[in-house]
Amino acid sequence: MRHLMPPFRSHPFDDDKLREECGVFGVIGAADAANFTALGLHALQHRGQEAGGIVAYHPNSGFNSVRRFGYVRDNFTRASLMETLPGELAIGHVRYSTTGSKGATAIRDVQPFFGEFSMGGCAFAHNGNLTNADALRRELIERGSIFQSSSDSECIIHLMARSIQSNIPERMKDALRRVEGAFSIVAMTRSKLIGVRDALGVRPLMLGKIGDGWVLSSETCALDIIGAEFVREIEPGEMVVINGKGVQSYWPFQKIPARPCIFEHVYFSRPDSILGGRSVYETRRQIGVELAIEAPIEADLVCPVPDSGTPAAIGYSQQSGIPYAMGIIRNQYMGRTFIEPTEQIRNMGVRLKLNVNRALIKGKRVILVDDSVVRGTTSRKIKEMVLDAGAAEVHFRIASPPTEWPCFYGVDTPDRDALLASNMSAEEMRVHLEVDSLKFVTLDGLYRAVGEARGREKNCPQYCDACFSGEYPVRPSDRINRGFKIRELA
Ligand code: SF4
Repeated sequence: MRHLMPPFRSHPFDDDKLREECGVFGVIGAADAANFTALGLHALQHRGQEAGGIVAYHPNSGFNSVRRFGYVRDNFTRASLMETLPGELAIGHVRYSTTGSKGATAIRDVQPFFGEFSMGGCAFAHNGNLTNADALRRELIERGSIFQSSSDSECIIHLMARSIQSNIPERMKDALRRVEGAFSIVAMTRSKLIGVRDALGVRPLMLGKIGDGWVLSSETCALDIIGAEFVREIEPGEMVVINGKGVQSYWPFQKIPARPCIFEHVYFSRPDSILGGRSVYETRRQIGVELAIEAPIEADLVCPVPDSGTPAAIGYSQQSGIPYAMGIIRNQYMGRTFIEPTEQIRNMGVRLKLNVNRALIKGKRVILVDDSVVRGTTSRKIKEMVLDAGAAEVHFRIASPPTEWPCFYGVDTPDRDALLASNMSAEEMRVHLEVDSLKFVTLDGLYRAVGEARGREKNCPQYCDACFSGEYPVRPSDRINRGFKIRELA
């Protein structure tokens, strides 16, 4: 059944952000693994709000799966539903589509996906995006594969089906050696939990321990919610196979220098997560410190654009000595109230979610700190609200460099021509946004904030930063075939 109108639609306000597309989670060796998985997915909800799914395995009832549109809390909290997912082994996925039927998701595109092989079943959940999925799909269809979804991730199941290896982890290795792009995968068989990260380690994947059991999760914040202990990150290029005997590591791919996504530190991951051995909150605060050093300005208040600009605003304030204040208040209960907004409500735009603290702002020179500028539509509206409230000056400080290029590795970005920074210089953007000043943290400043004291290694960057630099660590071959022009490097 194809779902023509999505039952959940994010508000236009959110369209001016890059959006992480998926979160993955899995548990082995814990009673009611599906309940733990539901809690983990709830903690990962910021990584995908459109749909979610859980597969669990029990020796008596085999593999059982539930896939639903909407929030985890609205689906996976009903006892009658969770009772259909018994067992000590479960995996789950939350998604907002990067590929598949974007904006009109069909339930068939909702993961985990499942394949039945001669040696047993395998369910898997994928965070990331394959950059050669078009070519693979064409090839697989020509050879007789029958696809069930429009998702790039399904290629992996078909490649596994074609492998001649005798067990599922080996088939998965075969399949993943054929795909290009970003993948952090959590998979399960009848007796094993499997985690894999691509050789660059673009998207995160964490290992945790709960009692005698084990957990895999996109972020550590989801380990916290179930009381699991954070053990370590799955390394770039590593596959872990976990069963009753413990965790076995394999290295199926050619070793190359890692390039994890630097934007995870800026925006995607939750601030209470640990990433790359660092507190995400602390990294964001440090970005604010760098911004204050690189782009000082005389002002009366430093105000975050909530919530994602908050840690950087705190850092900017601490470094500059300018008082921090909540000049913009976010309505935490916006939620799903306006799923199908009327035209009149839609036109209220940003005001539905953010409101200016007028008494505080009036007559003040205000520094607004935000995580990024994508289309610039939200920044403009926020500036108008702050000026309407009587601010004397408005200065924007942005906790990431200008976003000039789309991401092809599992993040929803507009086409290049819709990105404000790809069409305008920083000064043109300032004029366009009609603000008194606009400054972005530099790429080196961002690298320093994530702990690289010497900044970005030009010849061998330590992170993926393609959306800022245009230097794609994996050639986005499908997009190039569809006409996308990558930056020619000197
Ligand atoms: S292009 Fe940007 S958002 Fe995408 S993986 Fe690289 S750094 Fe992250």
